[in-house]
Amino acid sequence: MSGEAVQPLEEACDAFVSWLDRRVVAAGRGDGLDRLDVAPAETFWLGRLTCEDEVRKGTGDSRAERLDPCAIGIRCRPAEAPPWSMTVTVRARAWLKDPKDGPDPDRRWWRTGPVEEKVSVVASADGGTFGAEQLRDAFAAVGAPGLTAEVRVDVEDWHQDTELVVQLVNTSPERSRELTDPHLYETQLEVAGLTTTPFQLEALPDSFRYHRDVPAYGINVGVEVPAPGVFRSSDTTTVQTVRPDYWNSSRSEPTLSFEQLAADPVPELTALVDALEAYDHAHWSSSVLAARETAEGWTPDMRAEADKAAADVFAELDRLRTGLKLLETNRDVRRAFQLMNKAIGLSTKERGYDAWRPFQVGFLLSAIRFLAEPADDAKFVDTVWFATGGGKTETYLGLLLTTAFFDRLTGKRTGVTAWSRFPLRLLSLQQTQRFADALAGAELVRRDAVARRVADVKGAPFSLGFLVGQAGTPNKIVPRPEGDEIGPDSPGVPDKYRVLLHCPFCRDENLRMKFDRQRWKLEHHCTNTRCPWRRGALPVYIVDQEIFRFLPTVVVGTLDKAAAIGLQQAMRGLVGPPQKICSLDWHGFTYATRSKTPNGCLVPDCQGTLKPLPMPAERFAPSLRLQDELHLLRDSLGAVNSHYESLLDYLQQELSGRHAKIVASSATLIGYDRQVEALYRREGRVFPQPGPRSGESFWTVRRAEKLRRFVAVAPRGVTLEHVSDRTLDALQHSVRRLVDEPSVVCAEAGIDPRYIDELLSRYGTNVVYGSTLYDIEAAGRSLGSNSTVDGINVEQLTGQTDFDEVRGILERLEKPEEEFADRIHVIAASSMLSHGVDIDRLNTMVMLGLPLTTAEFIQTTARVGRRHPGLVYVLHKIGRERDAQTFRHFDKYVRQGDRFVDAIPITRRSRRVLALTLPGLVSARTLMVHEPASRQRLSSPATLRQYVRDAELTPDVEAAAVAELLGLDGPEDSLHRQQIVEWLRDWFADLEDPGTTARFISEIGDPSPMRSLRDVEAQAPIHD
Ligand SMILES: [Zn+2]
Ligand SMILES: [Zn+2]
Repeated sequence: MSGEAVQPLEEACDAFVSWLDRRVVAAGRGDGLDRLDVAPAETFWLGRLTCEDEVRKGTGDSRAERLDPCAIGIRCRPAEAPPWSMTVTVRARAWLKDPKDGPDPDRRWWRTGPVEEKVSVVASADGGTFGAEQLRDAFAAVGAPGLTAEVRVDVEDWHQDTELVVQLVNTSPERSRELTDPHLYETQLEVAGLTTTPFQLEALPDSFRYHRDVPAYGINVGVEVPAPGVFRSSDTTTVQTVRPDYWNSSRSEPTLSFEQLAADPVPELTALVDALEAYDHAHWSSSVLAARETAEGWTPDMRAEADKAAADVFAELDRLRTGLKLLETNRDVRRAFQLMNKAIGLSTKERGYDAWRPFQVGFLLSAIRFLAEPADDAKFVDTVWFATGGGKTETYLGLLLTTAFFDRLTGKRTGVTAWSRFPLRLLSLQQTQRFADALAGAELVRRDAVARRVADVKGAPFSLGFLVGQAGTPNKIVPRPEGDEIGPDSPGVPDKYRVLLHCPFCRDENLRMKFDRQRWKLEHHCTNTRCPWRRGALPVYIVDQEIFRFLPTVVVGTLDKAAAIGLQQAMRGLVGPPQKICSLDWHGFTYATRSKTPNGCLVPDCQGTLKPLPMPAERFAPSLRLQDELHLLRDSLGAVNSHYESLLDYLQQELSGRHAKIVASSATLIGYDRQVEALYRREGRVFPQPGPRSGESFWTVRRAEKLRRFVAVAPRGVTLEHVSDRTLDALQHSVRRLVDEPSVVCAEAGIDPRYIDELLSRYGTNVVYGSTLYDIEAAGRSLGSNSTVDGINVEQLTGQTDFDEVRGILERLEKPEEEFADRIHVIAASSMLSHGVDIDRLNTMVMLGLPLTTAEFIQTTARVGRRHPGLVYVLHKIGRERDAQTFRHFDKYVRQGDRFVDAIPITRRSRRVLALTLPGLVSARTLMVHEPASRQRLSSPATLRQYVRDAELTPDVEAAAVAELLGLDGPEDSLHRQQIVEWLRDWFADLEDPGTTARFISEIGDPSPMRSLRDVEAQAPIHD
């Protein structure tokens, strides 16, 4: 044994997290304090019990009882018949107030010594009360005469099996001469000597994967089992999760480095698929399932679930085999895959990894069939289920670059390969940057391959488009802006539209924004003279119209932008071919003519002529549509989006004769099939399939290293805001002690002093997370005014935070100031944080109440502890039924979160939503189908009217086309079809009305086409 063994850093982090948690719990209970200047009942939120009289006096509902309980208890199932004997240990303290002339007039409240009593209980079938005298005497003995409590045993025999409820009840009188405070503090209850049988969690789907035993339930507390047969109450429920390992096979792990796969992917990937096959047979064959069925007492339903899961697992194996076969036999697929690996290797060089995790490359193998069989494979939506852990974005990017290279190899020289959509307004800048970095890597590889003639990937440079709402970047830049239009000299142009954090080619942060009048482009320039790009403006387009002009390889954007397809004819570049290309340099593709763009070129006052497209028109259609965080497409937003997805599919089919492949990511599998059917009218497939047991599959297995420590808190007697303030205060106070009294803290926490700076950085910034803006703002404000620690710097990250500010905050978080005092100490954040904010320094979080959905809980908490052990306080709004339920099952909720995820409520058959989407659908058909067919401009009611007459269009014909596009053609959809016909009759009447005031076709009919998919009241429930 060597006394000088160096403590590993991760161990120090873990020890520090445990210590922080002890400090916070101590602050909540009042441990270690002997005197106070304020009433203890106004500040402590754990371990306290009010008196029973107080609760009785109230409304008497269970909600009030949970908010300020008079009892804590343990519910269990006795294994034997009554009488039941057990030893119940009660621990508690009291607080008393001295008179004004007491020994410490500034801090008149003082704490008594501990009471610890072992009460012998022998309960009959009727239960009973025990230990009242013993406890009364014990309180008197520590100096708190008048306090009383008892152990109460209730027998509930109306359940399937008899249940015992053993409680510690505070029976003290509400008022008495002797007592200054009738509360009990630092209470604990322990039951020993009773033989019990565990509860079984009620059967949910796929129960065969889970341990369903629950030894006992707590009442207003958590339950620990410190030794067999002993149940002890705990003030908080702590659940420690561990990091996954990404290889779970007895075979040796293949080399999945980017370099290896770029050189020769087949041997290593063959080893991967062989190992998967061996695992699947070892865990999913019917003889294995039969053995588990017997050993684990499965019901027939559970066995049926397991058989179905096994079938899905073997189908997944087949898909991987197919992908592997393609790499062996299809030269273009293999070449594209190799070039992609080279590009990803280049773009991640400085991110600290050089290889795929097996599940990432497994997904790629399972998905690449669509390259070879695009029409057939487009019938399926392939989804990365990312409950398995990080790496989702890289997985996407791998697929995206493979597709981009494959497109080039098969003759697509320009145009959009993929349109990637994110559900929130603030598609994060970090996320965008990762796309830009990957494309830059791909462009360097492409250029090199062309120069060395190793692959025919000629064409336009790979480029990125950033397509978000007006609030983020401009739709267009006009020479003479009016109203809220933007011109080259408008305030903030060009600097405020900077989107990139650094140059994707060389990582240099000194980017310069520029508006080039000649080319009419808003540009990012790298100022590093040694940058490998060397071609002027970076290939990144952030103005909508530039995206239409240049049709970048990958367009990233927010979901709501799909609405533009019903308003803006140049959006057709995202579903099919543009019309022509302008003869002038850097003018780009052209579209239908309008009064301001008389020749169809989108550059103002263009004098160029039109040239034919440089490649066959049908190749312009994007190969891929990516949908990030599919589970957020629910309720009304999901319903509206489902109609626009159908519109995109329809237009792409009309304009180019092909369907895009859809690939998505999701946090949940519950209701997934139905959701995909509703959104896309396609069949869903998920990768990876969940494993044979919870938390374990071929792709992941738990290992020892700590991931997150979740602490459930049910605040008692004080407000949630108070608890959040005090918790953050305790965290900040404790972390600052590392600076003020390092040796004391290191000894207390058991950490090596060499890690002080690291720990200060990793645990010095706390996140407080709220589901509502109100909660977040309140948290930020009160923290400033109520803290015992000076100088807490609070910043907010919400949907309301400006672009610029977000960038500044992220920068400060990633590269903290030298002095601790100057850093950000608390981030008050909304769900905006949960999407793509990846900061390794965020390792502590306080959640203000459970988020509305389990998916949000999973995703939000994943923001902390990304690389180092994390600590998450979940403050339950314990008055709410749902929070109370979750508190009771907190362990299962955290460990089996994926099955607590609520099914996604979504339908495409809402008539209210149809009323909103119809105008855009009709307008899009006019712009992109009728106008090209008419061979003239249909932008005014007059020309459109003439065309409608010439082409003999009728409401019924147009309605039939719209209903078919939406798939509302079944017998159950007759009301929907009626609604469409009626709306179109009005639209036609409006068009024919000689007195119409409409100047543009979008003004015909009511309402106008949606401007954003968010126009719908977000998240309002929608029904068929
Ligand atoms: Zn550069
Ligand atoms: Zn032009």
